[in-house]
Amino acid sequence: MAKALTEAVILAGGKGTRLAPRLGGLPKPLVDVAGVPLLERQLLHCKSFGIKSVLLLVNHRADCIAEFCARKDNFGLRISLVDDGEPRGTGGATLAALPYLAPDSQDVLILYGDTLLNIDLDRFNAAHVATGADVSLFLHPNAHPQDSDLVELDESGYLAKLHPYPHPDGAEYPNLVNAALYIMKKSFLMDFCYLTEEAPKIIDFAKDVFPLLLKKGKKLYGYISPEYIKDVGTPQRLDNAVADIASGRFAGGTLRLSRRAVFLDRDGVLNAEVGYITKPEQIRLLPGSAQAVGRLNRAGLPAVVVTNQPVLARGECDEAALQAVHTRLEHLLGLEGAYIDRLYYCPHHPDKGFAGERPELKIVCACRKPAPGMLFKAAKDLHIDIPNSWFVGDRKSDIQCAKNAGCRSILTAVEVSGPDGNIFADMGEVRPDFQVRDLAAAVDIILQRQEGTR
Ligand SMILES: [Zn+2]
Repeated sequence: MAKALTEAVILAGGKGTRLAPRLGGLPKPLVDVAGVPLLERQLLHCKSFGIKSVLLLVNHRADCIAEFCARKDNFGLRISLVDDGEPRGTGGATLAALPYLAPDSQDVLILYGDTLLNIDLDRFNAAHVATGADVSLFLHPNAHPQDSDLVELDESGYLAKLHPYPHPDGAEYPNLVNAALYIMKKSFLMDFCYLTEEAPKIIDFAKDVFPLLLKKGKKLYGYISPEYIKDVGTPQRLDNAVADIASGRFAGGTLRLSRRAVFLDRDGVLNAEVGYITKPEQIRLLPGSAQAVGRLNRAGLPAVVVTNQPVLARGECDEAALQAVHTRLEHLLGLEGAYIDRLYYCPHHPDKGFAGERPELKIVCACRKPAPGMLFKAAKDLHIDIPNSWFVGDRKSDIQCAKNAGCRSILTAVEVSGPDGNIFADMGEVRPDFQVRDLAAAVDIILQRQEGTR
């Protein structure tokens, strides 16, 4: 059992200039979010996971925040407010406030005063502790990666590269965004206190601290999750968050609760089927597929790609090349405001006899569709409610995989594989629950049923 998180730092010094029309003179952390001040939501969320001490780094209207906490009896938490009056940036302020942290805590959660979140902090912390990393960053894909600060992980899940916005012309990166929620070892932060003495005077975690740590060869762990975390720092974002609360998307946004998901085959569903794909330039999105994925994103239904990639076992392409293919896929979806929440591939293939094949991957596995292994792995990783989830595929093996896993299935018929053009030509006795033209039509069905169950 991982040592529980007991302490949080909330960066609550922002002026909230962009949010001014909604603040009525209040400081940004006290903005009303569907009837509850944002800071209250954050504090109660932390408290529900056993956090006992909270350090509020304040500046603008600190008196108002102090008065609010006092009026609410600090929500039963040990709350300290620190305002040293210096503009230091997020990293600088945190480092400067370290002496005020409780002496007995090991790790500290760091969150920003303008984020609305519903995240299973126990799960995040367990992953952080299990890796032994000094710093863990909460990461997720978003609907506008081309104008976001992106990160790249290595194969073990540690930060390998940072790609701050703006990106160079023509650059393509995986869609992985720093959500500005961290768990850090306190002992480690103490070691970096000297950063505040070095120039620049104002230091930011993402812009200054993390690049320096990477350069020094430190391990920063990337925790990827589809859970709900959004900044509400503009009127439009605030309105979106209020809508998410009304629709139940916020409440259902935590991995503590199981969720429906939509499993998607890759070739023939998202991108055109052109035989075995080993190069990024072979990825062409099918018309309407990005828009369909975007509708799943906005409905809060995780889009999980599951694809057989025997090209690896056959030695036709290596993991790095496959990653480049998937980076292109994420990039093209991102340009259309869509993202996939997770991608799983099976690298195996049972039949031997290919030149250049990799014997270690030439096995009968539990993940090659129609085996349901990738769906079960996803269910564990993302707490997916399989019987109420969907699989959209264009082949018999996809539909059989859905049946083997026990979820609902939709066959798309963009690419007809039967020689006579009959969609059921090679389906045998395997029948999907629905048969439609393409992913857009499949998403119509999924969202209709989703509505019907509310
Ligand atoms: Zn496999």
